[in-house]
Amino acid sequence: MKVQKLNQLYEGKAKKVFETSDPELLIVDYKDDATAFNGLKKGTIESKGIVNNKVSNFLMKMLEEKGIPTHLVEEISDRETIVKRVTIVPLEVIVRNIAAGSLSKRLGLPEGTKMKRTVLEFCYKDDALGDPMVNEYHILAMDLATPEELQRISDYALAINRILSEFLAQAKIELIDFKIEFGRTSDGAIILADEISPDTCRFWDSETGEKLDKDRFRRDLGNVEGAYREIMHRLLGL
Ligand code: 5GP
Repeated sequence: MKVQKLNQLYEGKAKKVFETSDPELLIVDYKDDATAFNGLKKGTIESKGIVNNKVSNFLMKMLEEKGIPTHLVEEISDRETIVKRVTIVPLEVIVRNIAAGSLSKRLGLPEGTKMKRTVLEFCYKDDALGDPMVNEYHILAMDLATPEELQRISDYALAINRILSEFLAQAKIELIDFKIEFGRTSDGAIILADEISPDTCRFWDSETGEKLDKDRFRRDLGNVEGAYREIMHRLLGL
């Protein structure tokens, strides 16, 4: 696909976003920069941008094939992908199968506790507020999404969890939890946007329980690059 990369629209913690010659398309450029705890911890994870670009595209393509609409258009380099332009719904949608991270802390559940059923959480995307957790009432009262959009987002999130969990299990990866974001296209459709990568998911080795995700960076567990490469290797064979 021939679109020209134009001016930078936005630079986030892990990605840069560029306008293109097509007003409906953007180019995302993944960086190696890593942050945690709302930007308090900063570092670099060598080749993270490449892994996240390729892993996210691979998983989104798989999800598309199973009927989940995503922003993915085309990977154009190791770090760059053409995506559909959307307005991001300002919610972090979190799905959990096993207790870990902030859920363990908040509810006093040891990490690794299997939840009796899937947990769906929403956080309001606002760095200044530290992305506070909100429920359906807050979302509707603040008009962050319409009731129809919220229903669709919830249905997609749970379907994505089922598809991803099953798929990753074949690569001996247990999907503990993950965060996704959705966007609205110019014609009002809700599609999966942002990324699905070791930055945004907890991946544990199914047999050893070894952490293969950003928690290695957050918690100074070492071999961060190795864990990211391992995920890319298991999924894409690279
Ligand atoms: P927790 O709430 O336990 O910190 O995170 C739950 C899941 O969502 C984890 O897989 C975590 O990686 C992801 N997650 C939650 N908030 C963020 C965020 O602001 N940035 C990223 N990259 N992942 C997040």
